[in-house]
Amino acid sequence: MKFRKLALALTIGLAIAGFFVFDLGQYLNLQTLKEQQAAIQSFQTNNPLLSVAAYFVLYVIATALSFPGAALLTLAGGAVFGLLWGTVIVSFASSIGATLAFLMSRFLLRDWVSQRFGQRLAAIDEGVKREGAFYLFTLRLVPVFPFFLVNLLFGLTGMKTRAYYFASQLGMLAGTVVYVNAGTQLAKLESLSGILSPGLLGSFVLLGIFPLIARKIVEIVRMNKVFANWKKPARFDRNLVVIGGGSAGLVTSYIAAAVKAKVTLVEKHKLGGDCLNTGCVPSKALIRSAKFLSHVTRSQEFGIHSASAEFEFSDVMKRVQAVIKTVEPHDSAERYTELGVDVAQGSAKIVSPWEVDITREDGSTQRLATRSIVIATGARPFVPPIPGIEEVGYLTSDNVWNLRDLPKRLVVLGGGPIGSELTQAFARLGAKVTQVEMAPRIMIREDPEVSELVTQRFRAEGIDVLLNHRAKQFIIDNGEKILIAEHEGQDVRIPFDAVLVAVGRAANLKGFGLEELGIPTGRTVDTNEFLQTNYPNIYAAGDVAGPFQFTHTAAHQAWYAAVNALFDPIKKFKADYSVIPWATFVEPEVARVGLNELEAKEKGIPYEVTTYDIDDLDRAIADSEAHGFLKVLTVPGKDKILGVTIVGEHAGDLIAEYVLAMKQGIGLNKILGTIHIYPTLAEANKYVAGNWKKAHAPHNILAWVERFHAWRRG
Ligand SMILES: Cc1cc2nc3c(=O)[nH]c(=O)nc-3n(C[C@H](O)[C@H](O)[C@H](O)COP(=O)(O)OP(=O)(O)OC[C@H]3O[C@@H](n4cnc5c(N)ncnc54)[C@H](O)[C@@H]3O)c2cc1C
Repeated sequence: MKFRKLALALTIGLAIAGFFVFDLGQYLNLQTLKEQQAAIQSFQTNNPLLSVAAYFVLYVIATALSFPGAALLTLAGGAVFGLLWGTVIVSFASSIGATLAFLMSRFLLRDWVSQRFGQRLAAIDEGVKREGAFYLFTLRLVPVFPFFLVNLLFGLTGMKTRAYYFASQLGMLAGTVVYVNAGTQLAKLESLSGILSPGLLGSFVLLGIFPLIARKIVEIVRMNKVFANWKKPARFDRNLVVIGGGSAGLVTSYIAAAVKAKVTLVEKHKLGGDCLNTGCVPSKALIRSAKFLSHVTRSQEFGIHSASAEFEFSDVMKRVQAVIKTVEPHDSAERYTELGVDVAQGSAKIVSPWEVDITREDGSTQRLATRSIVIATGARPFVPPIPGIEEVGYLTSDNVWNLRDLPKRLVVLGGGPIGSELTQAFARLGAKVTQVEMAPRIMIREDPEVSELVTQRFRAEGIDVLLNHRAKQFIIDNGEKILIAEHEGQDVRIPFDAVLVAVGRAANLKGFGLEELGIPTGRTVDTNEFLQTNYPNIYAAGDVAGPFQFTHTAAHQAWYAAVNALFDPIKKFKADYSVIPWATFVEPEVARVGLNELEAKEKGIPYEVTTYDIDDLDRAIADSEAHGFLKVLTVPGKDKILGVTIVGEHAGDLIAEYVLAMKQGIGLNKILGTIHIYPTLAEANKYVAGNWKKAHAPHNILAWVERFHAWRRG
């Protein structure tokens, strides 16, 4: 491959050098063409087919190799073959030449570019896939954009060759006609610049931007079409109504109030939503108590001969509720009312693109007319329809917090973050936990060694982690609840006292007007990059919008939803998902930002891996937490960070440095040059940067420096 590339580059180089060495450019001017017109014409009359073939091949070679003079060749085409045939021949020859140049650029340069700018190129490819042909067409329409540059740049993208050819041919047609037509008047032409008068050039620019304007108009018409069957209220009670008072809804309404909009936040259950009441807060509180118990179990590791803990599970669960109560004021109606939000307790239903009905507990209803709406209705645990599941009864992350007696034998269905966090917490609290996962490993979104480390730890703590086990049926046999799972074609019976279903979360899409308004949904509400639904004034944010299901991404989207809902069409922003971090709070903790190896491979993004093992870190050793690792993916040969995975104590906190670095474009060199306090876990961030530096030490220069020192020693 390398040889073929080299050979092609050499051939192109030689051809271009030949062009200039032999000064072939001297023949490519208007004067020579005029002088030779009669001779060329007579050759064409005597050899019509040969002249077409020769002209065609010459044109293709000239454009494929990006020789100057394509405009002159086009004029010659008009002069020799006339308007119709000249246009046909030039149109095909220029499109084929352009496509060859595009392919050569791709063959020679794309790998190199993607090695250096992998992630950015992936984003460009994504855009080109959606709209590349459209933009190429507009570029081609305006003949002032350099022909060779367009070929070169598009060759670096992932655009399909066929699309490139057709968009080029169609886009260049108008310009071709103008030049070929000018060629038919060759005798009258005084200069090449005369062909494109300012007026004509202006028309081309207009033609070029016409598709963009047309597309915008189509977009506006399409968006407004959805309003056609609805009667718009004469005036609005509110600028914004937000449906759902979880992380997304709270932040949306807070931002709206901060910019002095009149906003109503409607919550049908508890403000704070999942995160406060049944998600992040209770789970982290439970995990903390469980961690305390794990330290008691590990007392000898800390030099304590024996330690024991006496506790009631119900007290631990009471503490969980106490933690919720302590955090609750942050998300309370009082606080938000003080911030300027009108908080309404009740169930919201969108009844028109501008109207929301709020039904309160006492059955009374209020209709609010609003300029914009943000849907932030969240998600709920997904319960798969496994035969017998209703009969045995099940727990989910919604109701597990009501438990006051610890189940002796707990089955956790699901090896994702929620399933894994609760598996370890319940096991540490004393339940005999069996975690059942149908994939070959738990935490499947992370790299395999991450899953491996967590699984090892789970098993060491007495958890039965069953991989490749598909839950098939629940039965009650002699009064005992049993899960039948399929493993390698065999049925495995798993007796249990309680089962916790944690196999994913389904967006709340039903019962509040989406179907009636015809707002498209899949697994989540369909939105564009501005978080708009098909109704331009109705937005969605948080778990109901996806693609992430975290509190911090809900809050992040909320900013876009609020600002866009309040300020469109004056200004709107595309939601930026370039740097999204998350953590799974198992032990060892797992945190990630950006790409891991799995995703980089999947997306074909080249990367280099640098690792640092935490068992070498002084503070981790002092804390008896010397386990885990950091893995940093960088652009090959550069310190630019593509993604980081950290497994170990406080990984979720340690990752923050890399989140900032990625967001602000800070590379490993700068992290290495930053003081980190000794002895802290954060030093691991510096050490992994050091490992990268060692691997990229300038050996040649160091060899000279060594000689310099030897010389100075005399
Ligand atoms: C066990 C568990 C642990 C988690 N741990 C973490 C973690 O550590 N870190 C993290 O970032 N994320 C975590 N999450 C995820 C996090 O909780 C969610 O991503 C976050 O709560 C999503 O916020 P949201 O506003 O989109 O939805 P929600 O918090 O679900 O809020 C939606 C709200 O809308 C209300 N609503 C729905 N329909 C209507 C209607 N028609 N009218 C009025 N109100 C309505 C609901 O009652 C609800 O209060 C965890 C989740 C679970 C289940």
